[in-house]
Amino acid sequence: MTWSINNDKCLRCGGCVSVCPVAALELRDNIIYDKKLCTLCGICDKACPVEAIKVTKQ
Ligand code: SF4
Ligand code: SF4
Repeated sequence: MTWSINNDKCLRCGGCVSVCPVAALELRDNIIYDKKLCTLCGICDKACPVEAIKVTKQ
């Protein structure tokens, strides 16, 4: 299971930061991701307007 972001697509809108239930994301120059906090719930993936975040469960 992995979380990934395409920084070329990301608009820095902060939408994913707002919806993350465990505050694993932070908006600086890029989105900062805290792997230790993330539960891989996929909410940020669904919330991103440009599909920059991919949460895969394999
Ligand atoms: S997958 Fe869920 S817990 Fe992980 S960063 Fe996205 S919203 Fe937060
Ligand atoms: S919701 Fe998508 S476009 Fe907006 S900051 Fe997060 S990854 Fe970037």
